[in-house]
Amino acid sequence: MRIIRYDAAGSPRWGVLGPGDMVHEAEGAPFGGGGLRTGPPVAPVGEVRLLAPVTPSKIVCVGRNYADHAAELGNPVPKEPLIFLKPPSSIVGPGAEVVYPEASGRVDPEAELVAVIGRSGRRVAAENAMSMVAGYTCGNDVTARDLQKSDPQWTRGKGFDTFCPLGPWVDTEFDPADVRVTCTVDGQVRQDGRTKDFIFDIPTLIAYITAFARLEPGDVIMTGTPSGVGPVQVGNTMTVAVEGLGELTNRVVADR
Ligand code: ZN
Repeated sequence: MRIIRYDAAGSPRWGVLGPGDMVHEAEGAPFGGGGLRTGPPVAPVGEVRLLAPVTPSKIVCVGRNYADHAAELGNPVPKEPLIFLKPPSSIVGPGAEVVYPEASGRVDPEAELVAVIGRSGRRVAAENAMSMVAGYTCGNDVTARDLQKSDPQWTRGKGFDTFCPLGPWVDTEFDPADVRVTCTVDGQVRQDGRTKDFIFDIPTLIAYITAFARLEPGDVIMTGTPSGVGPVQVGNTMTVAVEGLGELTNRVVADR
């Protein structure tokens, strides 16, 4: 099943993509609350404005989870996961504008596979962790690289409004074991990796995260980015693609 959120005459609404990519209305809690009851078709997906398909209490991110990306930024391969958070206020949906902050002189997209949590859990063992995952979506961990380096921690560099595009949908049947993750800027492939090259796999990440924080339904884990990061400019179009899952496209606009 592909779960979406979309704009219905100014109000956000959950939906499900049916045959022929038709949007069906849906009622209920998509993650962890008894599921969605799917209603009638309303429009082809191309005729609605998609919103981010999750409303998480927290966005948990992993730094340096591909060895080649750690190396390109001059960092050693970590011995345990490097976890940070982005604020939910940074989330935007597919097609939304990403604002290049006036405070930054270098902004990079980061293409990432995103796991969406389907039930509440604390201290979950790795061998039970995949039962925590409801599905997967695409994410762009937009980063003000200069501020990430100059600030003693990453909250500002990773946390500007619009710095977390997510979507286009949550696929509940997707297999993330070995898929291609790319970032394309104005049609040119910048980042190109495969999830089999994760340093820490998803069960390991869930065990590590839930050792300190409860994960709640709808929370997301951004699984890190492959090598090839580089800056974008105002006017560029960024596309994160996860093979077999979908594409997430956002344009960079000036801070006004
Ligand atoms: Zn990242």
